[in-house]
Amino acid sequence: MELRFYNSFSRQIEAFAPLEEGRVRMYHCGPTVYKRPHIGNYRAFLFADLLRRLFDLEGYQVTQVMNLTDVGHLVDDADDGEDKLLAEARRAKLDPWKIVEQVSAQFFADLDALGVRPAHHYPKATDHIPEMVRLVELLVDSGHAYRVGDNYYFDVHAFAAYGRLSGNRIAELESGARLEVNEEKRHPADFALWKSDPNHLMKWETALGPHGFPGWHIECSAMSMKYLGDSFDIHTGGEDNVFPHHECEIAQSECATGKPFVRLWMHTKFLQVDGGKMSKSLGNVYTLDDLIERGFSPWDFRFLVLRGHYRTQLNFTWEALRGAAEARRSLLDWRGRLQAAERNGHGQGQAEVRQAGAAFDRALEDDLNTSEAVAAIFQLRNHFMHHGLSQQAAVAAMQLLARADEILGLFEMTADGAAPGLADAEVETLIAERNLARQEKDWARADQLRDQLHAAGIVLEDKFDGVRWHRGE
Ligand code: AMP
Ligand code: ZN
Repeated sequence: MELRFYNSFSRQIEAFAPLEEGRVRMYHCGPTVYKRPHIGNYRAFLFADLLRRLFDLEGYQVTQVMNLTDVGHLVDDADDGEDKLLAEARRAKLDPWKIVEQVSAQFFADLDALGVRPAHHYPKATDHIPEMVRLVELLVDSGHAYRVGDNYYFDVHAFAAYGRLSGNRIAELESGARLEVNEEKRHPADFALWKSDPNHLMKWETALGPHGFPGWHIECSAMSMKYLGDSFDIHTGGEDNVFPHHECEIAQSECATGKPFVRLWMHTKFLQVDGGKMSKSLGNVYTLDDLIERGFSPWDFRFLVLRGHYRTQLNFTWEALRGAAEARRSLLDWRGRLQAAERNGHGQGQAEVRQAGAAFDRALEDDLNTSEAVAAIFQLRNHFMHHGLSQQAAVAAMQLLARADEILGLFEMTADGAAPGLADAEVETLIAERNLARQEKDWARADQLRDQLHAAGIVLEDKFDGVRWHRGE
């Protein structure tokens, strides 16, 4: 495939060219582990998984890193104010380390339930204090950062490209009302690299001083460069990460190493709920459990998210989730029918399958247009439902569906990698047993076998010339 992606930095679609041929190194801003991530966060993380799956299938050697922010992310993404984790610890009357442990475990369980492939590294900020201290030292030594008491700030005027990613100009930032006045800073737009507070619950004694803790941005610079090198291919996050988080990461990293930091910046548009921002007061900050309680599979949510293009608005409603669940089930049903058609298909359809495959790939090549890619699959399904497919075309359609499943993750798998339920041979055996029971007029046994097959998602169709079956409803 000839992949092209929208680069938030250049604001253009660019042909994908990794720094090293055949290799992709990518970093994703992960959760702040102060409470269980909500479904909006999972839009960002599912996008990371989509990239991962695509590169895997394309044969790249992938190194994927997603961090866990367990200190330093202050309320409102600000420089001053309360640490999100410590605020939660106080509210819940729990040890912050305990919260990190619980929420991290919950996060990994959620990723698993969503069928996300594990990244190669999930570094935690608090495990990388020395790397952060080193970066701050480099920045002070090179004149890009300054110390006031035991606090360290980055001097935004020392980096000419500051503001390139977000389009913010320093002058406008500094005249804007959004920046609170902090007497310590040389310029209002400077940002904290490292802070000190004897009352902080999570603090470290380092070469930078006692009672220190990192700023949120320096964490991602330190962890990404540790696992991926000073320059790497892709950095992702939700759209709110563009500023200040990623803008500051670029400034710190490039000033510390003197090298370009990231080639390709990709940002996921926010998931909205009921047409607006999720909010506690509206009671619509949903977690995966809220979905499961209403009878949905996390895979239905996965499908809802991934059949939308990552840069377009996506609005979560229960109605939309129901639609996604039904659509996913109809694909599962189609897979069953295709399996049957591989054995006894009629019709033609080779050209349609080829066209669908080409349209699927073209859509993904075009900045991961999963919405059009999924539409191509459904178009082929429609053709099949009206005109059938020859055995050969059904085999090819199954291959396309399997490819779509690899990239998008459509069908849930059991732990051993098999589709849940019965294997084909087991189905055939049960059907043969049922035929025998019917010949012997053992109707109770025959019905029992039909029910057993039905419970495993196998649909039987009694025809004059025998029994046909497919997976579905
Ligand atoms: P946080 O836990 O706040 O650090 O966020 C983790 C990731 O989720 C970041 O990349 C955010 O940009 C992203 N994120 C937060 N809210 C949403 C949302 N509603 N839709 C999509 N991504 C989000
Ligand atoms: Zn980050």
